[in-house]
Formats: sequence, structure tokens, C-alpha cells
Amino acid sequence: MAVLVLKFGGTSVANPERIQQAAKKVKAEIDLGHKVVVVVSAMSGVTNQLVDYVRSITPSYDPSEYDVVVASGEQVTSGLMALALQQLDVKARSYQGWQLPFYSTDKHEKARIDEIDANVLNDCFAQGITPVVPGFQGVTRPTKEDRGRITTLGRGGSDTSAVALAAALKADRCDIYTDVNGIYTSDPRLVQKARKINRIAYEEMLELASLGSKVLQTRSVELAMNYKVPVQVLSTFDPALGSDLPGTFLVDEDIMMEKQMVTGLAHSRDEARITLTNVADKPGMLARIFGPLADANINVDMIVQAASDDGKTVDVTFTIPRSDIVKTTEALTANKADLGYNELQTSTDVVKISVVGVGMRSHAGVGQMMFKALAEKGINIQVVSTSEIKISVLIDESYTELALRTLHTVYGLDAA
Ligand code: ADP
Ligand code: ASP
Ligand code: MG
Repeated sequence: MAVLVLKFGGTSVANPERIQQAAKKVKAEIDLGHKVVVVVSAMSGVTNQLVDYVRSITPSYDPSEYDVVVASGEQVTSGLMALALQQLDVKARSYQGWQLPFYSTDKHEKARIDEIDANVLNDCFAQGITPVVPGFQGVTRPTKEDRGRITTLGRGGSDTSAVALAAALKADRCDIYTDVNGIYTSDPRLVQKARKINRIAYEEMLELASLGSKVLQTRSVELAMNYKVPVQVLSTFDPALGSDLPGTFLVDEDIMMEKQMVTGLAHSRDEARITLTNVADKPGMLARIFGPLADANINVDMIVQAASDDGKTVDVTFTIPRSDIVKTTEALTANKADLGYNELQTSTDVVKISVVGVGMRSHAGVGQMMFKALAEKGINIQVVSTSEIKISVLIDESYTELALRTLHTVYGLDAA
């Protein structure tokens, strides 16, 4: 008998019929003798709709009220899932994030879980009750002045709720049911020849997720890696059950027998490029440029410095999250006199393409293959950044699919 956390994403609970289908999977696991906690997302599209409602009242909203609104999608599906399970004679009940509780930081919209009280769930198991928990929701700790506020864990945060619960319960497995039957070598919606991966190292998935593969929220992979949670990603639409082990498993790097040079590709359209032209080429300039950005909480990612046309000064190019473009230009414009640059250029027509693989630690020449393949397709690389197990390039957004497909073939990832 195992303890399982089963998480159903938005498409898996998109309507009452799908919730009933998902409930059947839960019931089948219980019939095998397992103790199950169910975690649900909001119905697909609902969270976007709730975000739009908030923004239609005011674009500069109070983030704590945003969370009250946006967390509600998961409340609906948790109640519906409990009802669907009851119809199958499963003793089920829902617990909202504040009831467990799922304590989090107070960084609204992107809160981090910092403590879960799993006692309630263990009590449920003891009484033969199957708890249904909404993903995505957190709550701040009550203080003398404040009774605590509802928070949300960032978009895609139900994955993190599920993995955090699995860690707290020391579950035997955390199954993430979604609309694809596993993790692929690239987003299967863009690369038709993408291949399903049976086992992927936590480190690789962490890189892929943080570089744009939205199949798992980055924080969920981080937690899975730190607490060694056995995570499986699998399809809600396949007849196979989680216990049939049909999906992709996140595993430790050292149990991977064959370390491929490149395991997968990721892309992110969430980037913007900034160039400051004719910056004085003297010590301390980069610190002066990036200081105000750090103060404004803006994450600078890729950076390159190149000689300007005049041969005396330099152009500094870097990337930031697209959503921070206004804040960034404001911070740089406010400091223009101090920085002494000539022009501030911005571009949002860019995409970051990354190749990831733990095998890069032992194989040389991965970057060269990438640069050559992109050059042969006439794709200009604007910025490059590397780490031990990844190489990322910034290119024109219109080449996204061409670049992904080209690299997929070059690294031998295409499905047969
Ligand atoms: P859910 O609503 O179940 O959480 P998501 O939409 O968040 O589902 O994640 C599943 C989607 O992730 C897939 O439909 C797929 O398009 C996308 N995706 C991106 N990269 C990958 C990848 N490498 N492997 C599988 N799916 C990926
Ligand atoms: N419903 C939330 C979102 O759409 C959380 C999730 O689905 O993981 O971002
Ligand atoms: Mg998701």
C-alpha cells in the first residue's frame, strides 16, 4: 500500500465530465489499496478569466485582493472533485489552502510555501477519507494585527502544491496528470518530432522548466529535487493509471545510465532585450548599470558587452523578463546622467532558445554544433549564455520554430 498524491491540471478538470473521469482514476488507485490525496487546478481558462476580471477593475490592483479572486478557481474544482468521488462511493472531502493550512510567504501572486501541516491529511487517512486539496493556494500566518491572507503560488503553481504535499507526507509517488503523456524533448506543440523521455534528471528538468518549459512549474521541480520526491508526469486522457507507470519520471542524475549530450530543448518568449549604446568603457560601469535594476527587483539574465561603432565606448546588451520592460526603462532613464549612455534601445521580438543535458558536463562541442546549425539557417544569435548543463541563445522571435526543429534534428532528438 502506497501513499500517492495525484494532481490534475486544468485540462484534466476542464468540465464536470472530465472531473468525473479523473475521479475514476482516483477511485482505481484507492481500489488498489493506496492512500490518495488529490490536488486540483482550476478548470482550464478559468484562472486567465479571473486575472482579466481583476485587471478590468484596475491595472494597478492590490495584489492581496488579486489573490483572493484568482485562488477561487481551485476552490470550485476541489468541491466538484469531492462530489464526483462521493458519487463513486469514495469518502472524500475538500480542504482549502487556508484550512490545512498551506503557510506561505506574503509575496502575493508569487508566494512560496514555507510550511505545510500534513496532520489533517494523516488523520483523514486514518478515517478512510480521501482529501481533495486545491492547488495554487496558500495563506500567510495570522498575526495580532491580521488574521492571515490568501496567497497564490504563481502561475502553474498547482504542481508545486502537489509536490510540496508529497514531500510533507513522504509520499511514495506524486503523479502529475496533464494533457501530454510525459515530458518531451521539446514542446510537442511546436516540434512535431519531439520524443517522449522516460526518465529525466531533476537538474535537467529544473533547467528546462526555468528556461521556459511550462509542463512543470520551476519551483515544483526544485522541491522535488530537494526532498527527493518521485514525480511522474502522465496523461489524463490515456487509459493507463499512474500505478501502471506509463509516464516520465524525475530521477537522480546518478541513476541515469546513459548521459546524453542533450536531453531536451526549451524556449521562452518571456524575454525582452535592452541595449545601452556608447557606454564609457571604464571600471565599475556594469555595476552602475545593474545596481538600479537590482534595487527595482528586476532579474537580469543574459549580458553581452561589445565595442561601439566609435571604437572608444561599448554597447551593453542584456535581457530581462518582458513584464519588467516599463520598470527597467524607467530605472535606466532616471539614471541616464550618471550612466552617460547615448541611446536606450528595447526589443520584445526575441526568444530565448536553450539546449539542456547533464551529458554536457563530459561532452565538448555542444555550443559549436548549435552555432553552426543556426548559422546555416541564417539565424543571427544576439546574445549567448551558458552554464554547466545548458546553453541559451537569444534570437529573433520569428525563428522560434525553425530554430527548435533544426536543433532537435542536429542533436539527434527526433522521434524515429
Ligand atoms: P496543466 O494544465 O495540466 O498544468 P500545462 O499546460 O501547464 O498543463 O502543461 C502541459 C503543457 O506543457 C503541454 O500541453 C505542452 O504543450 C507544454 N510543454 C512545454 N514543454 C514541454 C515538454 N518539454 N514536454 C511536454 N510538454 C511540454
Ligand atoms: N490555476 C493556476 C494557473 O492557471 C494554477 C495551475 O493551474 O497550476 O496558473
Ligand atoms: Mg501547469
